[in-house]
Amino acid sequence: MSDCIFCKIVNKEIPANIVYEDDQILCFHDVSPQAPVHVLLIPKKRIVSMDDVQEEDKELMGHMMVKIKEIAQILGLENGYRVVNNCGEHGMQTVGHIHFHILGKRKMAWPPG
Ligand code: AMP
Repeated sequence: MSDCIFCKIVNKEIPANIVYEDDQILCFHDVSPQAPVHVLLIPKKRIVSMDDVQEEDKELMGHMMVKIKEIAQILGLENGYRVVNNCGEHGMQTVGHIHFHILGKRKMAWPPG
């Protein structure tokens, strides 16, 4: 059994507000939203971080990238959005299951903090 909180969401052991799901990936609302719309896109397979992506994950990672625009459409992000991946300690990653934040419905600032 994994202690990974996102694996528990994948396995439906803890609830999440799901936006999109297929056999490979899951997208759900962040519990602590940093924008009016803030969801997380994850692979069902646990990859710890961007630093752990392997050659064999190319198709899965590509699948996630292709699905982002579909998810943005579901969420009504017609004016654009930001996609963020935090990797490792300096990237301020807090959950060890690779995920892409999709944030929208407000204008973002740059550079990030
Ligand atoms: P990061 O800091 O990039 O690793 O992002 C982890 C994100 O997961 C944070 O934005 C948290 O608010 C979010 N999060 C943590 N636990 C849950 C949960 N059970 N359901 C939804 N989002 C979560």
